[in-house]
Amino acid sequence: MTSTQARRMRRPVLQAEVDAGAGCVGAHPDMFFRGDGAPLLVWQEQRTEALRFCHGCPARAACEELALRDGDGTNHDDMVRGGRSGTELAARRKAQARRISAAIAADTASGEEWNKLTDLTAKLHRAAGLNRRLEFQAQHNERVDELRADLAAVRSARRARTGWEVAA
Ligand code: SF4
Repeated sequence: MTSTQARRMRRPVLQAEVDAGAGCVGAHPDMFFRGDGAPLLVWQEQRTEALRFCHGCPARAACEELALRDGDGTNHDDMVRGGRSGTELAARRKAQARRISAAIAADTASGEEWNKLTDLTAKLHRAAGLNRRLEFQAQHNERVDELRADLAAVRSARRARTGWEVAA
Protein backbone atom coordinates (compact mmCIF):
# COMPACT_ATOMS: atom_id res chain seq x y z
CA MET A 1 0.00 0.00 0.00
CA THR A 2 1.47 3.37 -0.95
CA SER A 3 1.28 6.26 1.48
CA THR A 4 -1.24 8.03 -0.78
CA GLN A 5 -3.48 4.98 -0.91
CA ALA A 6 -3.21 4.52 2.85
CA ARG A 7 -4.13 8.16 3.51
CA ARG A 8 -7.19 7.88 1.32
CA MET A 9 -8.33 4.65 2.89
CA ARG A 10 -10.89 5.40 5.49
CA ARG A 11 -10.71 3.64 8.81
CA PRO A 12 -13.87 1.52 8.30
CA VAL A 13 -12.44 0.22 5.00
CA LEU A 14 -9.16 -0.74 6.66
CA GLN A 15 -11.01 -2.36 9.55
CA ALA A 16 -13.26 -4.33 7.17
CA GLU A 17 -10.18 -5.61 5.36
CA VAL A 18 -8.67 -6.83 8.62
CA ASP A 19 -11.97 -8.35 9.78
CA ALA A 20 -12.30 -10.24 6.52
CA GLY A 21 -8.72 -11.45 6.14
CA ALA A 22 -6.93 -11.52 9.50
CA GLY A 23 -4.46 -14.38 9.47
CA CYS A 24 -4.38 -14.54 13.27
CA VAL A 25 -8.03 -15.43 13.79
CA GLY A 26 -7.16 -18.81 15.29
CA ALA A 27 -4.14 -17.61 17.25
CA HIS A 28 -4.25 -16.80 20.96
CA PRO A 29 -4.25 -12.98 21.31
CA ASP A 30 -1.61 -13.22 24.09
CA MET A 31 0.87 -14.43 21.49
CA PHE A 32 1.13 -10.89 20.15
CA PHE A 33 2.05 -9.34 23.50
CA ARG A 34 5.00 -9.86 25.79
CA GLY A 35 3.83 -11.06 29.18
CA ASP A 36 4.72 -9.06 32.28
CA GLY A 37 8.28 -9.94 33.23
CA ALA A 38 8.69 -12.43 30.34
CA PRO A 39 12.43 -13.06 29.74
CA LEU A 40 13.79 -11.65 26.49
CA LEU A 41 14.62 -15.08 25.04
CA VAL A 42 11.08 -16.32 25.62
CA TRP A 43 9.63 -13.17 24.11
CA GLN A 44 11.94 -13.37 21.08
CA GLU A 45 10.65 -16.84 20.25
CA GLN A 46 7.07 -15.73 20.80
CA ARG A 47 7.60 -12.62 18.65
CA THR A 48 9.04 -14.72 15.80
CA GLU A 49 6.02 -16.98 15.96
CA ALA A 50 3.64 -13.99 15.94
CA LEU A 51 5.44 -12.42 12.99
CA ARG A 52 5.06 -15.70 11.10
CA PHE A 53 1.29 -15.25 11.28
CA CYS A 54 1.60 -11.69 10.02
CA HIS A 55 3.90 -12.43 7.12
CA GLY A 56 1.35 -14.71 5.49
CA CYS A 57 -1.58 -12.46 6.33
CA PRO A 58 -3.57 -10.96 3.43
CA ALA A 59 -4.65 -8.04 5.64
CA ARG A 60 -1.12 -7.14 6.78
CA ALA A 61 -0.93 -3.71 5.10
CA ALA A 62 -4.34 -2.62 6.40
CA CYS A 63 -3.49 -3.96 9.86
CA GLU A 64 -0.22 -2.04 9.96
CA GLU A 65 -1.95 1.16 8.86
CA LEU A 66 -4.53 0.78 11.64
CA ALA A 67 -1.76 0.11 14.17
CA LEU A 68 -0.05 3.33 13.11
CA ARG A 69 -3.30 5.31 13.34
CA ASP A 70 -4.07 3.71 16.74
CA GLY A 71 -0.69 4.75 18.14
CA ASP A 72 0.42 1.17 18.81
CA GLY A 73 4.06 0.51 19.58
CA THR A 74 6.55 2.23 21.85
CA ASN A 75 10.27 2.07 22.45
CA HIS A 76 9.65 -1.08 24.50
CA ASP A 77 9.88 -4.29 22.52
CA ASP A 78 6.66 -5.81 23.82
CA MET A 79 4.17 -6.37 21.01
CA VAL A 80 3.55 -7.33 17.38
CA ARG A 81 0.86 -5.96 15.09
CA GLY A 82 0.57 -5.66 11.33
CA GLY A 83 3.78 -7.59 10.71
CA ARG A 84 5.85 -5.16 12.82
CA SER A 85 7.29 -5.21 16.28
CA GLY A 86 6.21 -2.44 18.64
CA THR A 87 9.54 -0.66 18.22
CA GLU A 88 9.27 -0.81 14.42
CA LEU A 89 5.77 0.64 14.59
CA ALA A 90 6.99 3.46 16.82
CA ALA A 91 9.81 4.25 14.38
CA ARG A 92 7.48 4.21 11.37
CA ARG A 93 4.94 6.40 13.12
CA LYS A 94 7.67 8.91 13.87
CA ALA A 95 8.95 8.83 10.28
CA GLN A 96 5.43 9.28 8.86
CA ALA A 97 4.10 11.59 11.57
CA ARG A 98 2.63 14.17 9.22
CA ARG A 99 0.82 11.67 7.00
CA ILE A 100 -0.55 9.74 9.96
CA SER A 101 -1.88 12.78 11.80
CA ALA A 102 -3.63 13.86 8.55
CA ALA A 103 -5.16 10.38 8.25
CA ILE A 104 -6.35 10.47 11.87
CA ALA A 105 -7.85 13.93 11.32
CA ALA A 106 -9.63 12.66 8.20
CA ASP A 107 -10.94 9.63 10.12
CA THR A 108 -12.33 11.91 12.84
CA ALA A 109 -13.88 14.34 10.38
CA SER A 110 -15.28 11.44 8.46
CA GLY A 111 -16.95 10.12 11.65
CA GLU A 112 -18.56 13.50 12.34
CA GLU A 113 -19.60 13.80 8.71
CA TRP A 114 -21.07 10.32 8.77
CA ASN A 115 -23.20 11.24 11.80
CA LYS A 116 -24.36 14.37 10.00
CA LEU A 117 -25.24 12.35 6.88
CA THR A 118 -27.19 9.82 8.95
CA ASP A 119 -29.01 12.57 10.80
CA LEU A 120 -29.92 14.46 7.61
CA THR A 121 -31.09 11.26 5.91
CA ALA A 122 -33.35 10.41 8.86
CA LYS A 123 -34.78 13.96 8.88
CA LEU A 124 -35.40 13.78 5.13
CA HIS A 125 -37.24 10.47 5.47
CA ARG A 126 -39.32 11.81 8.32
CA ALA A 127 -40.17 14.99 6.40
CA ALA A 128 -41.06 13.06 3.25
CA GLY A 129 -43.35 10.76 5.22
CA LEU A 130 -45.32 13.49 7.01
CA ASN A 131 -49.04 13.60 6.50
CA ARG A 132 -49.27 16.74 4.40
CA ARG A 133 -52.23 19.03 4.23
CA LEU A 134 -52.61 21.05 1.07
CA GLU A 135 -52.11 24.45 2.72
CA PHE A 136 -48.72 23.34 4.07
CA GLN A 137 -47.57 21.69 0.84
CA ALA A 138 -45.29 24.52 -0.35
CA GLN A 139 -43.65 24.86 3.06
CA HIS A 140 -43.17 21.12 3.26
CA ASN A 141 -41.60 20.92 -0.21
CA GLU A 142 -39.25 23.73 0.72
CA ARG A 143 -38.09 21.85 3.83
CA VAL A 144 -37.50 18.64 1.85
CA ASP A 145 -35.52 20.58 -0.78
CA GLU A 146 -33.46 22.20 1.94
CA LEU A 147 -32.60 18.83 3.51
CA ARG A 148 -31.74 17.38 0.08
CA ALA A 149 -29.39 20.31 -0.60
CA ASP A 150 -27.71 19.86 2.81
CA LEU A 151 -27.19 16.16 2.12
CA ALA A 152 -25.74 16.86 -1.33
CA ALA A 153 -23.34 19.44 0.13
CA VAL A 154 -22.03 17.03 2.78
CA ARG A 155 -21.61 14.25 0.20
CA SER A 156 -19.79 16.52 -2.29
CA ALA A 157 -17.38 17.76 0.38
CA ARG A 158 -16.70 14.17 1.37
CA ARG A 159 -15.97 13.11 -2.22
CA ALA A 160 -13.73 16.08 -2.87
CA ARG A 161 -11.70 15.56 0.28
CA THR A 162 -11.24 11.80 0.11
CA GLY A 163 -10.78 11.42 -3.64
CA TRP A 164 -13.50 8.74 -3.71
CA GLU A 165 -15.70 8.68 -6.77
CA VAL A 166 -18.80 7.57 -4.89
CA ALA A 167 -19.61 8.76 -1.40
CA ALA A 168 -20.40 5.86 0.90
S1 SF4 B 1 -1.10 -8.61 10.16
FE1 SF4 B 1 -0.72 -9.93 11.92
S2 SF4 B 1 -1.81 -8.96 13.64
FE2 SF4 B 1 -2.59 -8.06 11.74
S3 SF4 B 1 -4.40 -9.26 11.22
FE3 SF4 B 1 -2.69 -10.16 10.11
S4 SF4 B 1 -1.89 -11.77 11.43
FE4 SF4 B 1 -3.22 -10.48 12.71
